[in-house]
Amino acid sequence: MLEDQIFCPACGTDTDHTLIKSGQENLVRCDDCGTVHPVEVKRVRLVNLKVIVNWDDRALPHFITIRANELLNVGDELLVDDPTKDVVMTQITSLETDRRVRSALAETVKTVWARATDEVPLRITVFRGGKSHPLKITVPGDELLEVGEKRRVENFQFIIVKIKLRGEGFADAAEAKNIVRVWGREI
Ligand SMILES: [Zn+2]
Repeated sequence: MLEDQIFCPACGTDTDHTLIKSGQENLVRCDDCGTVHPVEVKRVRLVNLKVIVNWDDRALPHFITIRANELLNVGDELLVDDPTKDVVMTQITSLETDRRVRSALAETVKTVWARATDEVPLRITVFRGGKSHPLKITVPGDELLEVGEKRRVENFQFIIVKIKLRGEGFADAAEAKNIVRVWGREI
């Protein structure tokens, strides 16, 4: 059975239908009276959407084409495949319609703010001899970091002692894209 009800010319009302044949014109059968009739294929309406992609301190506008009725949510992953630029995997950080919202249909959205998650900056603070040294490296967004793990960055060799998450709180292990900062103790 098709998801949406369709107008049946014999019943004179919207009824459940079964798809008989799909093509430029779909052939459907009314589940109530059995009448087979063609229906126009519903065109998927698309909208162009501006996505400001943040990477570290830079913000670059991208444009994507997306289904008008696609529901966008803050926190969702969004593939930004700007045909004139690059393809970036991002996570939605903010949505603007006529105001900032947590969730909206694509057609009502004016601007999407997102952050790139395929490659992310990772901030690390390493304690060495009573002093803290801030470091910053670039890692794949899905790279897993764990408390207790040994790492080497520049000339620092350290063990990860703490991982602070983007959302809230701390974790024993997390993917780099979800991390605000990692603390390490030199070994
Ligand atoms: Zn019918």
